[in-house]
Amino acid sequence: MSNIHFHPSNDTLARYADGDLDPAFSIMMSAHLEYCSGCRQRINELETSNTQVLESIPEEPLTSDLTAMLSQILSQPVEPVKLEVEPDPSSGVLKLDNKEFHLPRALQRHSDEIGTWSRLPGKIQRAPISTGGKSKMNFIYMEPDSSLPEHTHQGQEITLVLSGKFIDENASYGPGDFIVQTNEHKHSPRTQAEQDCLCLTLLDAPLHFTSGLATLLNPFSQLFFR
Ligand SMILES: [Zn+2]
Repeated sequence: MSNIHFHPSNDTLARYADGDLDPAFSIMMSAHLEYCSGCRQRINELETSNTQVLESIPEEPLTSDLTAMLSQILSQPVEPVKLEVEPDPSSGVLKLDNKEFHLPRALQRHSDEIGTWSRLPGKIQRAPISTGGKSKMNFIYMEPDSSLPEHTHQGQEITLVLSGKFIDENASYGPGDFIVQTNEHKHSPRTQAEQDCLCLTLLDAPLHFTSGLATLLNPFSQLFFR
């Protein structure tokens, strides 16, 4: 029984199986799949049905030799998706505040692209990961008993919990949870005492702070979007 309660949508899974997501989104998805056997299973099913669609393409236009060769290729057993990459022991660990976090393999490949850590208001630390594309990927580390002021999103925010736990008005989120928020959602994430949380986030626009004094942060919300 999985402890993961938040998963990518069926549409996102289908687009991943089709190779249709941009590189940063794909990294988020690959990392979630390392935690989530249920979604791995769904991806395998989708890839198998993609192969069956290929098999059903009519053969008439092809010469018989080519047809024979193709049908031989297509009759090979379908290999399951290979998510595993040889782990490099030096790149698999993220060190922060005398703590060590094991990174998903999907991120280990990008360990050279992790920028420097900076402190944000509310006992939050952040490090960017340059993945190219227009959306921004960041590690967000929330110390125990920390909070991010209430905010909404001008675009889409995807959060993947890598370690620990955070809570907001709606739920509690643990490792592997894949949380998609848009401008319809408003939330103030926080951690409980003695419980930190490391997340990976992908933003396609700066955050917008909504409550009281926190609205003063809006000029700085670009900080979350680098
Ligand atoms: Zn899942």
